[in-house]
Amino acid sequence: MAISIVPRPAHVTHYGGRYDETLCPLTYRADPSLPAEGYRITLRADGGEAAYADDGGRFYAAQTLRQLRAPDGTYPCVCIEDAPRYPYRAFMVDSARHMQSVAQLKTLIEAAALLKFNRFHWHLTDDQGWRMESQSFPRLNEISAWRACDGFLNDDGVRYGGCYTREEIRDIVAFCAERQITVIPEIDMPGHMVALLAAYPDLSCTGRVTAVSTHAGIHKDVLCVGKDATFQMMTRLLDEVCDLFPGEWVHIGGDEVPPQRWQNCEDCRARMRRLGVTDPAALHSDFINRIAAYLKAKGRRAVTWNDTLKGGDLDRDVVVCNWMDKTGRCIDRANSGGLVIEEDFFHYYLDYPYGMTPLRKTYGFDPMRAGLTEIGRANVIGVETPIWTEFVRDFKQLCFMCFPRMLAVAERGWTPPQLLNGKDFAARARALLPLLQTIGITAAPPKTWDPRALGRWKGLAQHYCRVLRVAHENRGVEEA
Ligand SMILES: [Zn+2]
Repeated sequence: MAISIVPRPAHVTHYGGRYDETLCPLTYRADPSLPAEGYRITLRADGGEAAYADDGGRFYAAQTLRQLRAPDGTYPCVCIEDAPRYPYRAFMVDSARHMQSVAQLKTLIEAAALLKFNRFHWHLTDDQGWRMESQSFPRLNEISAWRACDGFLNDDGVRYGGCYTREEIRDIVAFCAERQITVIPEIDMPGHMVALLAAYPDLSCTGRVTAVSTHAGIHKDVLCVGKDATFQMMTRLLDEVCDLFPGEWVHIGGDEVPPQRWQNCEDCRARMRRLGVTDPAALHSDFINRIAAYLKAKGRRAVTWNDTLKGGDLDRDVVVCNWMDKTGRCIDRANSGGLVIEEDFFHYYLDYPYGMTPLRKTYGFDPMRAGLTEIGRANVIGVETPIWTEFVRDFKQLCFMCFPRMLAVAERGWTPPQLLNGKDFAARARALLPLLQTIGITAAPPKTWDPRALGRWKGLAQHYCRVLRVAHENRGVEEA
C-alpha cells in the first residue's frame, strides 16, 4: 500500500504488515553518516528505529511519523530514507499590512514545521505599519505602528495597528527554534519606510511625511540616504533586531525604491557627488552595502530582494531573494558566486487568487532556471513562498490562500525532482487536510485548487488575472 506524506520522501521500501508502537517502542539513534537534515526510519512488526543525522533530521523523522501514523496508532512497516533537496525552505508572512496574533502565527509555524520548512521570513515593517517594538525609538511603537484605517480600498475609519512586544517576539523565535525553524526578520529599507517616516519625518528627503500610509502600492517617500542621521538610526535599529533574533541572516528589504525624492534632495545629490555617481541605483547599492557591512561586522549576513542588483555592485555576501527579475540579474548573480533564493511572483506569491496561480502552477515551478551554470545551480539554495496581506485581512483568509499551495512549495524544496508528480501530490495534499485541521488550519476546498472549467466566466476570470498581473508588474508610483 502506498503511503501518503507531504513532502514526498526520497526513498520508501515497503515490507508489508503493521508496526505497533505500544508493543515495542520506537528508538532514536544518531547516525552521522546520513546527509544534513536527513533521517532513516525503519519500521517492522518486531520493532521501530529512527536514525538521524542531526537535530533537524531527528525532528523531520518525527514529522514523517506524525503523518504516517494511522488513527489506531499503528504504522505501515516501511523503511524511509530521506533528506532535503535544498537547505533553505522558507515561508514569509507580511505582518505589516495586516497583523496576525501570536497564537495564529504559532498555528502557521506548526503547520510549516510539519511540512519541513526551516526558515520563517517575518516581514515586520512597511509603509502601512511598524510591528517590532523598539526600546530606543518609542515613537515607532506609538506612531508608526498605527494607521487611520484598516482596509486599503476605502476609508473605513477604523484605526488599525499595534506591534509585537519584545517578549512576544522572543516567544515566537523560541517556538520556531523548537521546530528547527530559524526566523529571518525583515526591516525593509530604504523604501517601504513611510510608517517610520511618519514618526521621524526628518529622515525623509522632504521632511514632510505626515502619516502612516493607508493605501497599497509603491510610495515615493523613502529614507533620505544622504543624511548621516538615517544610517545612524538604521544601525541602532539593527542592533535591536540582532538582540531579538539570534539567527545569522537579517533581511533588509531593498525593494521598490523610486528615485524621485533622491534626485531632488540636496543631501542625496551631495552624497552622489562624493561617490562620483549619477545613477540613483548606485546610491541605492551604496546604502545597502553600508548596511550589509554593518551587519557583517556584527557577525550577521544581509538578505535583500533582487531589486538591489540594479546598481551593479552589490556586496558579494548579500543573499538575494529573486521575486521579479526580468533581466536575468539573479542568474548572473548565482553564476558568479552569490547566493540566491527563488520566490517567483507568478508561482509563489500566495496572496493572488487560485484563478491566477492555481495549485498545479505553484507545484510546477522549477527553481533551477535556464541559464544557470553548474556553479549557479549550487548557489540557488532554495525556495520561499510569501503571503502579502494588503488584501488578506484575517487568518481564515490567510489559511485559504496558503493551503494547499504552501504544501507544493514544501515538496519542491524537499523532494528529488524526478519524484515530483502533480496528480500524486494533489491526492496526498487532500489526505493531509484532516491533520492540518487538527493543527487549526482550514485549507481551501479541493474544488478551488485548480480552476479549469470556468464556463462562461472563463473570459472574465482571465481578464481579471491579466489586469492584476499587469497592475503588479507595472505598479505605478503614486503621484507626489
Ligand atoms: Zn535625501
